[in-house]
Amino acid sequence: MGVFRNFINMILPPRCLKCGKVLAVQNGLCADCFKQISFISDPLCYRCGRPFADEMHLKSGIKHLCGACVKEKRPLFAMRRSAFLYDEESKKLILDFKFKDKTFAAETLANILYGAGRDIWPENPDVIIPVPVHWLRLLKRRYNQSAILVKYLSLRAAIPADYSSLIRRQNTIPQVQLTGAARRKNLQHAFAVKYPQKIRGKKIVLVDDVETTGSTLKECAKVLKKAGAAKIYALTLARTEN
Ligand SMILES: [Zn+2]
Ligand SMILES: [Zn+2]
Repeated sequence: MGVFRNFINMILPPRCLKCGKVLAVQNGLCADCFKQISFISDPLCYRCGRPFADEMHLKSGIKHLCGACVKEKRPLFAMRRSAFLYDEESKKLILDFKFKDKTFAAETLANILYGAGRDIWPENPDVIIPVPVHWLRLLKRRYNQSAILVKYLSLRAAIPADYSSLIRRQNTIPQVQLTGAARRKNLQHAFAVKYPQKIRGKKIVLVDDVETTGSTLKECAKVLKKAGAAKIYALTLARTEN
């Protein structure tokens, strides 16, 4: 593998995912671009992954929860994690991955995702599932970016992926074009579980590229739980601040 990678590097030197600068080592981002991305780091709420402002929560061994999570008696998600904040800089990174043929970026982004999920892996999840895209949209975009992320993440985490049990039923209007109530309505009944026998009793890591309002992930989690999933973990590349 190492020899093969070196050979690949000779013909195709690793480049920064964001600015395209040639890199000395294959680590995805050059130092300048790395600094521009707002990575989410400890301390954060152990359940929802929301970063805490103060250092008080850094004390080791304590799984702190934010105020909202303390009140939540029956949480939909066992844990939620994102690699970085969704801002102008990370948006460029993700949009490039999404709409251009930058599938090579998927491997690096999946590694970043693996790092962001460091609290999830010790829980021994059974399966990783990407948020599905309707086939009509797939035709236009050529691939489901979350499924590509899951392909590499599954290899990295040594956890099987499932691309067929959770399906998207309707070709919903892209969520970014809607707000609030319209978003939720648009998503109702959008997802379904095709093979409940593969979901029942399972601890599932649900993967998407971006979490904005969280409504897409919530709808997916709801149908998975209805089908008998034991626990749902959400893992995304980027999330908005709230
Ligand atoms: Zn760069
Ligand atoms: Zn929380």
